[in-house]
Amino acid sequence: MKRENISPSFAEKKVLVVGVGRSGMGVCAVLRKYGCNVTATDNRKSTELPRETASLEEQGVKLALGGHDVSLLDSKELVVLSPGVPRSLELIQEALKRKIPVLSEIEVASELARSPLVAVTGTNGKSTVVTLLGKIFADAGFETAVAGNIGLPLSAVVEDVPPDGVIIVEVSSFQLESILRFHPRVAVLLNITHDHLDRYDGMDSYAAAKARIFSNLTSSDFAVVNADDPLVMQLVAPSAARRFNFSFRERKVESGAFIRGGVFWLRRSGSESEVIKETEVRLKGPHNAWNILACICASAVMGVTAKQMTGPIARFKGLEHRLEEVAEIDGVSFVNDSKATNVDALKYALLSFSDPVVLVAGGRDKNGDFASLRQLVEERVRELVLIGEAAGKMQAAWPGTPAHVADSMEKAVETAFKVARPRETVLLAPGCASFDMFKDYEDRGNVFKAAVLSLVHGRTAERTP
Ligand code: ADP
Repeated sequence: MKRENISPSFAEKKVLVVGVGRSGMGVCAVLRKYGCNVTATDNRKSTELPRETASLEEQGVKLALGGHDVSLLDSKELVVLSPGVPRSLELIQEALKRKIPVLSEIEVASELARSPLVAVTGTNGKSTVVTLLGKIFADAGFETAVAGNIGLPLSAVVEDVPPDGVIIVEVSSFQLESILRFHPRVAVLLNITHDHLDRYDGMDSYAAAKARIFSNLTSSDFAVVNADDPLVMQLVAPSAARRFNFSFRERKVESGAFIRGGVFWLRRSGSESEVIKETEVRLKGPHNAWNILACICASAVMGVTAKQMTGPIARFKGLEHRLEEVAEIDGVSFVNDSKATNVDALKYALLSFSDPVVLVAGGRDKNGDFASLRQLVEERVRELVLIGEAAGKMQAAWPGTPAHVADSMEKAVETAFKVARPRETVLLAPGCASFDMFKDYEDRGNVFKAAVLSLVHGRTAERTP
């Protein structure tokens, strides 16, 4: 049902939606609901998108599938661009030339929000942070929705949450490139390291896209930022928002969260509250300590007390494919960090283990600087098992560590198990994208887990008389 008291700026416009993935589908529904004349286009043909085609046709969306001609822009007043489609596309450049606004799904959907938005971005940790925030807010009694990159598009949930609830939205740099007035109450920037440099000209343009999360904040809003990341601090400096810093060092935090004496602390208005002891936290690794600190800040500014945060943080075991414990066989642990798709995530995966690791890495390189990890790899990894297109480049970047190359995940797991000793961990942390061998990082993680479980079954069978 259309909300009576609201007339969004896009109502009744002629709109072209580019890309019919999850967010494209979500935005088509919202646009139709508010009387827009919608055309949707995608490179893929209707035979590759049978479900989407049927659903869009039923909603009265016109379709132009299997490519796009610039004539699709004729008479359009707005273009909504999916995060998977680059702005450099000829169609988008032509739209800009014709002065047609090109916006992202979060920009369009956020106009319909009745509740405050907590937006989270950064190179790594977004999904972990939005999930934990969702649990903290729900536990504190807020009506809560978690949306964005992580699953449901913002457009699918935005109207369901009442004004005193909260919507937590995971936003990527690609979505932030095409915002105009997107205005969260709380903007969280976790970190910025090299990633997606296959799609950006360089670090500056990638960082500039991330910094757009702050662009519409006023002095009634909050910026939650990692004070241990100099680039993050540089990007937030011009923002008018009230600042909540998080850091491993107390002295960097006037208002915010930090760790002192093995305890996570919240500090605001000159007073400190203990949130949780490090020993009570299940998430591993320094990166997850930052993620927890970020959650403490973002929930505190919305009125959650330190006491209310403790339980949900203590119970949170992390997400599938992020340092996920799979099994232990003959004293060897197997950990699935398939979501480590860039060099920084690989670095923090390695920093999460004190005993030696047999590392399964490789995949499709995103122009990653593997050589920067040489010393860490030599310190923490006893042997490497390399897969995919990046195997050769990794071997060259880490010449001091013995390496095996495997042509499938199953063989990689077998080799890793052969060389691993008791108390060691076989860690899948590829440091690369998965698309050379798998559908996506989830597929890669599932194949790894299945290979580990078949080892478990093999062992059980061996022992059965
Ligand atoms: P995103 O949604 O930003 O991709 P995830 O929470 O899914 O983040 O984690 C992606 C990968 O990055 C995982 O391998 C995870 O272990 C690692 N990671 C999580 N948080 C951080 C962080 N703060 N810094 C570096 N790496 C992280």
